[in-house]
Amino acid sequence: MSNQSFAEKLKKYADVIVQVGVNLQPGQKLLIRAAGAVESTAPVVRAVTKSAYQAGARYVDVIWSDEAMSVARLENAPDDSLDEGPDYVYAGMEAHVANADATLTIMAANPDAMAGQDQQKMAHLRKVQSQKLEGYGSYISGMKTNWCGVGAASPGWATKVFPGVDPEAAVAKLWDSIFKFTRLDLDDPVQAWKDHVAKLVERKAYLNKKQYAALRLTAPGTDLTVGLAKNHIFMGGSVETPKGISFVPNMPTEEVFTTPNAHEVNGTVTASLPLNFNGMVLENLKFTFKDGVITDFSADTGAEMFEKILDMDLGARRLGEIALVPNSSPISQSGTLFYNTLYDENASNHLAIGRAYATAVAGGVEMNSEEKEAAGINHSLIHIDFMVGSDKMDVDGILSDGTVEPVMRAGEWAF
Ligand code: ZN
Ligand code: ZN
Repeated sequence: MSNQSFAEKLKKYADVIVQVGVNLQPGQKLLIRAAGAVESTAPVVRAVTKSAYQAGARYVDVIWSDEAMSVARLENAPDDSLDEGPDYVYAGMEAHVANADATLTIMAANPDAMAGQDQQKMAHLRKVQSQKLEGYGSYISGMKTNWCGVGAASPGWATKVFPGVDPEAAVAKLWDSIFKFTRLDLDDPVQAWKDHVAKLVERKAYLNKKQYAALRLTAPGTDLTVGLAKNHIFMGGSVETPKGISFVPNMPTEEVFTTPNAHEVNGTVTASLPLNFNGMVLENLKFTFKDGVITDFSADTGAEMFEKILDMDLGARRLGEIALVPNSSPISQSGTLFYNTLYDENASNHLAIGRAYATAVAGGVEMNSEEKEAAGINHSLIHIDFMVGSDKMDVDGILSDGTVEPVMRAGEWAF
């Protein structure tokens, strides 16, 4: 693919996103959310727009957000204005997904864009936005319509990933990685994606049949037992909407994941990669859980801001996701830290604090909040992934009769 022009690669990228990721259906509308620097997301937005109309879209629209605008607001807007927001946009977004139309998020965030900003203001803005988007978010996390999240290289992001490389070359290098992880180097990317998704479906079918009561993760600095929700469903690869549209929520994706029982998590876990969150990078993140709740937490950088996130609501101190990714995944093998969860979470086994996927428990979507709480399906305004896997991690499955079976050894599947 090296002899193809960037425009040709971008077209292939857009086609895989539209045809496999979103799996846009003729007659659907597509809403694109572009986040990062406008000049970096714009080429992908335009390519996807064209591909979407060619696939039969009735209308394609975009909501831009731009880091320089966010910084301008944080530094200059009146302190008492932080609850303001485009309510007309939030209402429109919710109406869009309520109508079962499709969405795509394009992420080009510079991990350092918000460095030095007032942490209290940022935590407040984050909370306000989470609350205003709660309706929209419930359709997305409930898999009620087809959606996808993808990346776009930007100079700020690329120079963070490839320090010491000049911005233009760094952007080209990052695009090469993005295209490779999206399987665009293969002859027929659409077919390659179908094969890849089929393998993930096989793994999750095995785990779903087992119905382990808990998974135990062990590695240097980690000995954590994660109870799994009763009737949990391992998900991964593709998801189906209630209308039967099969879509791939993340590109790339290498994970199978499910919903833990938020009351039954015990032990200590050390993150294996720094966590990039809201423009902050947390290093050497460590959590201790007792009966599902984080009782102790430490990080070498960013701890002060993260403490505020953990205090956001009750569910922020409990687990909402456990995901398994073999260490041999192409992203892990690249040996590169991408400072972006979409890529880094597909390099490694991970956990998330905060909101759980009710869809990953049989009957979970129909449960009311008391039933969800009893089932251990965590509720929170946040969902933050952090990586725990490595080639030193073993995972055991514990059956309800106490039998222990190997699930992963030294970071690879053991079945
Ligand atoms: Zn995940
Ligand atoms: Zn997650």
